[in-house]
Amino acid sequence: PSATDPRAALRLRPEIAALPAYRQGKAAAADAFKLSSNENPFDPLPGVVDAVAAATQFNRYPDATALALRTELAARHGVSPDEVHIGSGSVALLAQLVLATSGPGTEVVYSWRSFEAYPSLVTVSGAASVRVPNTPEHGHDLPAIAAAIGDATSLVIICSPNNPTGTVVGADEFEAFMATVPSEVIVVLDEAYAEFVSAGSAAEPAAVNGLPRGAAPLTARHPNLVILRTFSKAYGLAGLRVGFAIGAEAILDAARSTAIPLSVTAQGETAALASLAAEKQLLERVRTIAARRDALHDALTAQGWALPRSFANFLWLPLGDDTAAVAERLNAAGLVVRAFAPEGIRISIGEEESVPRLLSALQQIIDELA
Ligand code: PMP
Repeated sequence: PSATDPRAALRLRPEIAALPAYRQGKAAAADAFKLSSNENPFDPLPGVVDAVAAATQFNRYPDATALALRTELAARHGVSPDEVHIGSGSVALLAQLVLATSGPGTEVVYSWRSFEAYPSLVTVSGAASVRVPNTPEHGHDLPAIAAAIGDATSLVIICSPNNPTGTVVGADEFEAFMATVPSEVIVVLDEAYAEFVSAGSAAEPAAVNGLPRGAAPLTARHPNLVILRTFSKAYGLAGLRVGFAIGAEAILDAARSTAIPLSVTAQGETAALASLAAEKQLLERVRTIAARRDALHDALTAQGWALPRSFANFLWLPLGDDTAAVAERLNAAGLVVRAFAPEGIRISIGEEESVPRLLSALQQIIDELA
């Protein structure tokens, strides 16, 4: 912080005081579409709302390890309940895994650009980030990531589909990569958007539109691998904060030791269980969002934009130096998107009505730029 910054006068950890403060963006117009956080545009299912409304024992602490949800997820994924760990969002689990593995003198390796939380979680742990640049096609460069792993490496994070570029790591590629990682180095496969994958994900070559599948074969083959999933995206529970990790008990026990106790609420656990019970309906919505994404991708390509195919619930427009200007115009048109200047813009797939507004705004921008 600069000399005039009040943080400079306090005994804060300098690397923490230097982090940009997390502040909410400015409020958007009432009729704007919020396409900036990769949320699910559908309202919660009535059955899920009813289940949460019935969980009214606010005077009691929640079940500390969310055993009912762990048991249900374990059965679905072909693992034991001790190989499942629930957190208040998958980002909380990631924070725990970083703290359990990494600290001063160690390095966390990940692709960049990727999920914004990675650099700050690593800084908070005291470890250093090793950012391996994405390929020109905006995906992970797995051979370069493998080459970046060394004696100081405490954790490797692979994000598939990658936020914000939407690319996936293929199953064969991922196996070849894991074969090169020393068995004592823990790898986190962050699959927050797995259900939106139409084909070719790292964990499941046959995963088509997120049909439920077991993680067991993958984590059984690779005891140093932890898979992260979330109820925030496909299941539409971002506000209730529930994510889960699947992996070896020894790794998850270490993560549990770093966790803030009781941060998963009974309402969150109840909503997740009710969502699993209504999974068929929710995955139907996922298919709708994936189809909307592909149609928008094709329409934008036809307008003349160059963008990679996405396997998540967002599109990535690599705009370079035009990023800030295009984001400003979209905002002015009532389309709140996420700009990562000077690289590109991430547009979440939102309400059906947002699509024509996006297409007309982007057509106008391309006409003006031409
Ligand atoms: N991983 C990735 C790649 C994400 O994009 C996000 C959400 N933006 C998360 C994890 C965290 O999601 P949550 O904490 O809501 O589960």
